[in-house]
Amino acid sequence: MSATATEKLIRPHGGVLVDRTGARPDGVDALELITITSREASDLDMIASGALSPLEGFMGSEDYERVVEEMRLASGLPWSLPVCLAVERAPEGDRVALADESGRLLAVLDVDEVYEYDKEREAERCFRTTDDAHPGVARLYAQAPLYLAGRVTVFERAVSEFPELALDPADTRAAFAERGWKRVVGFQTRNPIHRAHEYLTKVALETVDGLLVHPLVGDTKSDDVPAAVRVECYETLLGGYYPADRVLLSAFPAAMRYAGPREAIWHAICRKNYGCSHFIVGRDHAGVGTYYGTYDAQLIFDEFEPHELDIEPMFFEHSFYCKACGSMASAKTCPHSGDDHVFLSGTKVRELLEAGEVPPEEFTRPVVAEVLIEAYRS
Ligand SMILES: [Zn+2]
Repeated sequence: MSATATEKLIRPHGGVLVDRTGARPDGVDALELITITSREASDLDMIASGALSPLEGFMGSEDYERVVEEMRLASGLPWSLPVCLAVERAPEGDRVALADESGRLLAVLDVDEVYEYDKEREAERCFRTTDDAHPGVARLYAQAPLYLAGRVTVFERAVSEFPELALDPADTRAAFAERGWKRVVGFQTRNPIHRAHEYLTKVALETVDGLLVHPLVGDTKSDDVPAAVRVECYETLLGGYYPADRVLLSAFPAAMRYAGPREAIWHAICRKNYGCSHFIVGRDHAGVGTYYGTYDAQLIFDEFEPHELDIEPMFFEHSFYCKACGSMASAKTCPHSGDDHVFLSGTKVRELLEAGEVPPEEFTRPVVAEVLIEAYRS
């Protein structure tokens, strides 16, 4: 493939796709060792791959302050969530080694700065709540009290639970270019895809060249459907109901923060790095509980100038099958009453599946329901 093929895709955020992978430097074993959490390890690996371009390491105080207050890096480039490494104390030397919770050495970090941060302010600004019942806030409050900033060099990449789906931004970009796609829409999900989401991905796909189904497989809440089950659902659905030359399935390695609106921006910027020109934002994107308004994750895009993010958000309403329309529809496109709509709450779907019952096929494709019922059975 020629280099010009990928040049037709959207530019990475900040213009250059970062690569912070590298060979293991000499003397790593002698360095002070810092054990990082699974969320930090996921951020680290995304810095390495360029998924968080233009970040080359964990954020210093200038970037952090401006991100928290204004959703911008110190350079002015839009950025909506802190990407920070929390530590108990300042390290002695100017270089430290980073290891995951199992003790596996991953990277070195060249220390730039160690600084204090205000957890309540970060919670209030980024999560719009200081309630520690919010899973993202709870994680923040449990963190060590200082942030350690500096550029990283990652010599041991994350081990994916789904190696065949582990595509870095350079890989998805190459895959898009190889298929001749220029305009690509990214779809983020952490749930099985029912008919409603199938519909909106296909509506989006009608207007672009290709679809990246990019499920989040990093840390999620324990009551979300396990990633392995979801991946089987995606493979089943895509294999049967999407043209193979128009869709790419790959895993998004981020950990959920449940920051709602700010996370929607962050998810869009990451997908831009993966080569997506468009990004689907549904109602209550990346939300949890009742902390965010239904449309907050869409409205927040208005806080940026047109084209400033470059990636184009595509906003969607909830959709459903309407018996009167005889098709999938939404409140935007269907004039009929709720009596005509096939809609089931998440709780109701779960009850059916747990009882081994197949939901209406207008709600879930039977082949997807079978995978879910089997999963609940075991
Ligand atoms: Zn209708």
